[in-house]
Amino acid sequence: TTSMLTLRQLFLNNNAQTTHFPLLLEFERAQGVYIYDEAGNAYTDLISGIGVSNLGHSNPKVVQAVKDQVDKYMHLMVYGEYVQTPQVRFAEKLVSILPKTLNSVYFTNSGSEAVEGALKLAKRFTGRHQVVAFHGSYHGSTHGALSVMGNEEYKQAYRPLLPGVNFISLNNLPDLELITRQTACVILETVQGEAGIRVPHTAYMQALRARCTEVGALLILDEIQAAFGRTGQLFAFKHFNIVPDILLLAKALGGGMPVGAFIAPVDVMSAFKENPILGHITTFGGHPVCCAAGLAALEVLLEENLVAAVAEKEAIIRKHLVHPAIKEIRGIGLMLAVEFESFELNKKIIDTCIENHIITDWFLHCSNSMRLAPPLVISNTQLINACNIIIKAIEFHAD
Ligand code: PMP
Repeated sequence: TTSMLTLRQLFLNNNAQTTHFPLLLEFERAQGVYIYDEAGNAYTDLISGIGVSNLGHSNPKVVQAVKDQVDKYMHLMVYGEYVQTPQVRFAEKLVSILPKTLNSVYFTNSGSEAVEGALKLAKRFTGRHQVVAFHGSYHGSTHGALSVMGNEEYKQAYRPLLPGVNFISLNNLPDLELITRQTACVILETVQGEAGIRVPHTAYMQALRARCTEVGALLILDEIQAAFGRTGQLFAFKHFNIVPDILLLAKALGGGMPVGAFIAPVDVMSAFKENPILGHITTFGGHPVCCAAGLAALEVLLEENLVAAVAEKEAIIRKHLVHPAIKEIRGIGLMLAVEFESFELNKKIIDTCIENHIITDWFLHCSNSMRLAPPLVISNTQLINACNIIIKAIEFHAD
């Protein structure tokens, strides 16, 4: 119909800047690591909906949890008035697997909203308003999240943004002096995602933690993309032996359903209760169906010990993706970036991969690198097959 065509046209136009799909693919169903188009072709998913589908698609226990909760209720009331059982159960489970200081969970609808909540909480708790953020960072698309995004090009159309944000560089120790007693919080991705996967040094992360403690600034770690086993640890901060003051989660948190969270010590979270008491309000944040799905997904992740196999799968990728046109494979676990000499070459390789039913992507702030973030459940054979197709695509364009 005409309206259908118009809708498709609009979709194409809206995505013209960001999508690399040679044609608009319409997907009908997904199972495990495979996504199926209308004709029934199976595509191997190497991006997991950008770090969402860590368990693969349509995990039966997650699907059942959604159905069971839908049968009970979908939405009752906002925070502060009633609490919905799935939120309590999910929050309790999260707190049980986190360091004991991270004992208060506030659920949101998305990653961006978790960022907003955390920035506001840091202001309330410290009485300060300055923020330190990082070059190359991505924290979301709302105004607060844009204000702490480390990419000038994407922000300029939306100025004025939040005042008092200073940007520093990852792994640069002298920059830590810009974190002062005026700083409310420092926000960073534990492993930078959209910058093309940048893993900080352990010594740097420990110095950053120490500096924040010294000047009384809250350390906010955004693990929206990196948590739940993606890097080979349940939470990425475990690689660095530090604990944040506020932890941000979303994406894989909901097992495919939309939910985010900011998690803080209860005395920090209590700053929202002081007068004036308007802290952060969200009608749907922590939706019971999303919390039920998230809890089921977390139980599957832990029961099936999926995190333990991630390092081996990283090694398989590094062993099978070897070609002179690959300049570098950056990252940790199944959060990897494969760098080529240019965006043009990367795009051609990605397009050829998609034509050969391998779904991959580039990064928002790093267009010469290919994203590899398959579901953690991908088998070694599936992974090797995917790597072989990527190598063929590289040979086709680079040799
Ligand atoms: N932080 C990071 C590190 C992200 O990768 C993203 C999403 N790509 C966000 C925040 C924003 O999350 P959302 O899209 O759910 O708002």
